[in-house]
Amino acid sequence: MTQWMPDLTEPEVARRLDREVVFLPLGALEQHGPHLPLDTDTVVPTRVALAVAERIDGLVAPGIPYGYRSQPTSGGGELFRGTTSLSGATLTACVRDVVSSLARHAQREIILVNGHMENSYFAVEGINLALGDPLVPDLRAVLVNWWDLPGDDDLDELFDGAFPGWAAEHAGIIETSLMLHLQPERVRADLIEDRISTTPVPRYTLLPERPGLVDPSGVLRTARGSSAALGRRLFACVVDEIEAIVTSELRKSPHNTSDER
Ligand code: ZN
Ligand code: MN
Repeated sequence: MTQWMPDLTEPEVARRLDREVVFLPLGALEQHGPHLPLDTDTVVPTRVALAVAERIDGLVAPGIPYGYRSQPTSGGGELFRGTTSLSGATLTACVRDVVSSLARHAQREIILVNGHMENSYFAVEGINLALGDPLVPDLRAVLVNWWDLPGDDDLDELFDGAFPGWAAEHAGIIETSLMLHLQPERVRADLIEDRISTTPVPRYTLLPERPGLVDPSGVLRTARGSSAALGRRLFACVVDEIEAIVTSELRKSPHNTSDER
């Protein structure tokens, strides 16, 4: 059984939408250094959503492939070529419209899996606006940033007590390991630089942006040490955590509805 909503026909989607949780990935088209593709922030949450959906019989809608403006502190900023972003108002409206529309077709339980840090609060705002839609009075939504899910214990174990922290994690060891696990053929592993960025991650926001605020590679630290094995374990951890959240927070978990039809 497919979990990918676009594969379904209308009668199929009608049968499934009113009893299954729908996942909406939130991504970005953003530079990820010389070694990762621009859609890294879309691929990771989409694959996470598909993996959880497979376990609980959920549906995954196509994600929003553009994100809120990349920030130097978290994604390198807007000056890198290829980074293509939405304004906050546009992203908020996109989230509101897609969530409302999914919810209107009987499915009132939606889990948004975010892959791009800058999206977070605009997604919250979009959901809040959707909650005001009179056509979907009983909408319930969960938003998860996948990187918030591994606990300190998990990270200690995964990194043998040497987790370098999230502060400069952009196209670094975490995202690169996840991509080596999920889509190794798209990772330019030979272009991973050993050199650690010599430019400290900025501690303030300067507008308009000027060049030189972040390392010219677009990688905020280094992806050295990345591996598919680490990616597989991180991925499994995130999938387990989201499954637990869906099961505890959303009423239409398969445990509640499998006997209804
Ligand atoms: Zn990323
Ligand atoms: Mn990003």
